[in-house]
Amino acid sequence: MSLEGKRDKRTVDWEALTEKDYLAREEDIEGLLPIVIDLETSGLDLVKSGIWQIGAIDLNTMEEFFDEARIDEEDEVSNGALKVIGKAEEYLRDKDKQSQKELIGKFMNWVEKRKIKNFICHHPHWDVSWIMIRLKKYNLDKKFHHRSFDTHTIAQTKFYEVNNKFLIEEGRSNMGLGEVLEFCGIPEERIKVKEGEIIKEGKPHNALEDAKLTAECFNRLMFGKNLFPKFNKFEVPETLRK
Ligand SMILES: [Mg+2]
Repeated sequence: MSLEGKRDKRTVDWEALTEKDYLAREEDIEGLLPIVIDLETSGLDLVKSGIWQIGAIDLNTMEEFFDEARIDEEDEVSNGALKVIGKAEEYLRDKDKQSQKELIGKFMNWVEKRKIKNFICHHPHWDVSWIMIRLKKYNLDKKFHHRSFDTHTIAQTKFYEVNNKFLIEEGRSNMGLGEVLEFCGIPEERIKVKEGEIIKEGKPHNALEDAKLTAECFNRLMFGKNLFPKFNKFEVPETLRK
C-alpha cells in the first residue's frame, strides 16, 4: 500500500472499531503516533492547585482513558477554573470520588500498557509538569517518556509555512488551542476565561473532549485529514489538505 493509502486510513469511524479492527489499524499505520492527553485542574498554580480530570487517547488504537478524582485537601481552587470547567468547588472535593493519587496511579498503569510512551498535547510543558509534580508528591513511578510532541509548535510551524510569519500578538505567541482549532477549520465552541472573567460564553472544558479536539487538530496539521466523524462537517482548509 502506498503512503497516501496509509494516510487515508487515518479517517475511520473509530466508535465502530472492534478489537480486531484495532489490530488491523496498527498494521496500517506507518510508525507509531503519540498519546494525546489533556488535564482539567482546579486552578492555574501547578503546585498549589490539583488535577481533577484526565483525558487521553492512544492514537494508534483509539483506546481512551477518561477519569476523575477529588483534589487533595490542601489544593487551592480558583474561581476562574470553576468558570472554565463549569463545576462547583464541592464537585472537585467530593469525598465519594477516588483520590488524586489513585487517579494518577491509574493513568500511569494505562500509559504503561501503551506501545508508545510519548505524549502529545497543547503545550506539554504545562500538562507534563502537573503530572511530574504529583508523581513526586505521591511517590509514584513515571511510566511515560520525557520527550513530548506539541500541537502549539506544530501549528505555528504550519502557520509559518502558510503565512510566512508566526501567529504573534502583543509580543507573545497567540496560538492557543482555540486559535489552532480555527486554523484547522473547526469553530471554537468552548468558554473563554481571561484573568478570572468570562470573555466568551461557550461549552465548559472537558479533558476527553479537549483531547479529541487536540487529536483532530494534530491529524489535520500533520496529515491534512479529518479524524473523528463528528468533526467531518467542518472541512479541512485547503492550506492543510494533502
Ligand atoms: Mg482542557
